[in-house]
Amino acid sequence: MNAVCLYLGSSPGARPEYEAAVSELATMIAQRGMTLVYGGGNVGLMGIAANAALAAGGKVIGVIPADIADKEVGHHGLTELQVVDSMHERKMRMAKLADGIIALPGGLGTLEELFEMLTWSQLGFHNKPIGLLNVTGYFDLLLAFLDHMVVERFVKQDHRDLLMVERDPGQLLDRLTSHVPRSVDKWLDMDRT
Ligand code: AMP
Repeated sequence: MNAVCLYLGSSPGARPEYEAAVSELATMIAQRGMTLVYGGGNVGLMGIAANAALAAGGKVIGVIPADIADKEVGHHGLTELQVVDSMHERKMRMAKLADGIIALPGGLGTLEELFEMLTWSQLGFHNKPIGLLNVTGYFDLLLAFLDHMVVERFVKQDHRDLLMVERDPGQLLDRLTSHVPRSVDKWLDMDRT
């Protein structure tokens, strides 16, 4: 695995544990020689992830739409900052640059990005492993709702199982990196839809 894409809050959240877990994961990605791909901002947990990976000597690629570069304070100290035209292009670019995806605590944007990657996987457009770092149980209610969706037969268990959930950054990275893709990604098919 050469690159990991992180989805995480543009806010720091209410507890210092969020920042600590993000720093630990980003540092570990850099120490394992992997590139960190993320939304390119220098605010909230996003900025903390980028700065931690850079401080550990890692490579960081940010992908940010021109229109929101001001709002999210585009990070100009990155290895590479790719400026794109839209949110859709950002998501596609980030996903294609990475070999695995991890969502961390965040808000609506983080959930939107995570669920789009899950649905794209469910539809067979890609096979990248998708992880969730459940820092201090932040996602417990969401995970319970996902289980409820399975019970109510709106989500297949296989699709629920696409999400690898751990509380420990090292264990999550180990699971992601040991994932064996079941087939080749079919992004081009999706570009045509
Ligand atoms: P949030 O979790 O709401 O703090 O947002 C985290 C990141 O997700 C920020 O970089 C947002 O710009 C980004 N984001 C929000 N909505 C979307 C969307 N529809 N598509 C792609 N990225 C988004």
